Amino acid sequence: MLERTKFLLDEQDIPTSWYNLAADLKGGPLAPALNPATGEPLTRDEMAYTMPEQLIEQEIGTEREYEIPDPVRQIYALWRPSPLIRARRLERALDTPARIYYKYEGVAPTGSHKPNTGIPQAYYNKLAGKTGLVTETGAGQWGSATALSANFFGMTAKVYMVRVSFEQKPYRRALMETYGAVCVPSPSEETAVGRAILAEHPDSPGSLGIATSEALEAFGTDPSLGYVLGSAANHVLLHQTVIGQEAIRQFALADDYPDIVVGCAGGGSNLAGLAFPFLGEQLRGGRAVRVLAVEPAACPTLTQGVVAYDYADTGRLGPLFRMHTLGHEFVPPPVHAGGLRAHGIGPMITRTVEDGLIEPVAVPQTRCFEAGVQFARAEGVLPAPESTHAVRVAVDEAIRCREEGTSRTILFGLSGHGHFDLVAYQKYFAGILEDDAVDAAALARAAASIPRMAAV
Ligand SMILES: *Cc1c(COP(=O)(O)O)cnc(C)c1O
Repeated sequence: MLERTKFLLDEQDIPTSWYNLAADLKGGPLAPALNPATGEPLTRDEMAYTMPEQLIEQEIGTEREYEIPDPVRQIYALWRPSPLIRARRLERALDTPARIYYKYEGVAPTGSHKPNTGIPQAYYNKLAGKTGLVTETGAGQWGSATALSANFFGMTAKVYMVRVSFEQKPYRRALMETYGAVCVPSPSEETAVGRAILAEHPDSPGSLGIATSEALEAFGTDPSLGYVLGSAANHVLLHQTVIGQEAIRQFALADDYPDIVVGCAGGGSNLAGLAFPFLGEQLRGGRAVRVLAVEPAACPTLTQGVVAYDYADTGRLGPLFRMHTLGHEFVPPPVHAGGLRAHGIGPMITRTVEDGLIEPVAVPQTRCFEAGVQFARAEGVLPAPESTHAVRVAVDEAIRCREEGTSRTILFGLSGHGHFDLVAYQKYFAGILEDDAVDAAALARAAASIPRMAAV
């Protein structure tokens, strides 16, 4: 008899709607985003500058469910439902009584959860008459997802990629070009923002904040383009809830239910995607789960940031969001989990932390790689550096079960595979991967960039 390992659903079981946690939150609506010029809540008309109407509704609406359009589900069917896998070999390696499961998003064509939102954003922009997409990318996962999504809908894509990553990860660019996208290292000569920075710093390594400003400028000069977002926004978190909805059905097949749900948190989208449907069950009177959000110790947004209105972009072109922030001028050390190097986080994650629904944890990157290697040796799958943060904490919880002699069911999100991140693993094996400490002075300087506003 085989031990049950994979919990698979049929294509027909791909969720038909996205789940909106805002419908079930106690204690009033989410704080609105603010117009930086007026300090007033952003209006629908102002949002319409960058977003098609369906996305605006999904961003601020309070319906519990938003229907997934058929053309989007049809594309999801290329890789969804993603598998829920019982990590039995890891359990044995840890000699733990805990049952460990992971939801594996690395089966998506670009290797992470990001196309779950890239596809609907491309679709709605196409319906709105846009013929191309423009965006920024850090490590390249979002750029790849945008390139794929644009290609599926016959649109062009231009991706401003942080120069240091562009140089370190040439294969990400090649993947984007395979899908027909144009990938430009940022800062570039193509925009006024980029030219101004290059004039002053010809060797600028770039940053996500700069790349965002370039993408927004390019968007602003060409009305045929749509601007798309890879994380943090409410509608992005919403699109990712296909992950947790599938997991709930898969746990029914496994005749089990998680006590603990773990996810890595950059902008918060894969964590929200996995955890929000479970939290919804809890808020509606179902079983309680303990949800852990894992961030890098070098970019401790949730554990050392403050909750305040701040800009999501360094260039201060976009709105202000009420969120945990280290200050929009915070430049995180170059840890390899590029997707987790964000000074702020999705406002919905902040709200769930404030409501006591999610507990934040920070871990240093070498301990994450250690767990990533242990996981790869036990289960075979090489995790993305971001995902190793979730692996680390899942392993720690399983070890605690062993020490306490208790059995718990642990679910973690394996948000992507690490096949494009092998240079980071090479550095880890060579012993040259460092745990950059957060410098208190740098944190204080960045915190000073948070706008002074009336208490929130
Ligand atoms: C982008 C990315 C992340 C971080 O983004 P979230 O919005 O916090 O999920 C995590 N893991 C992988 C594999 C990513 O590509």
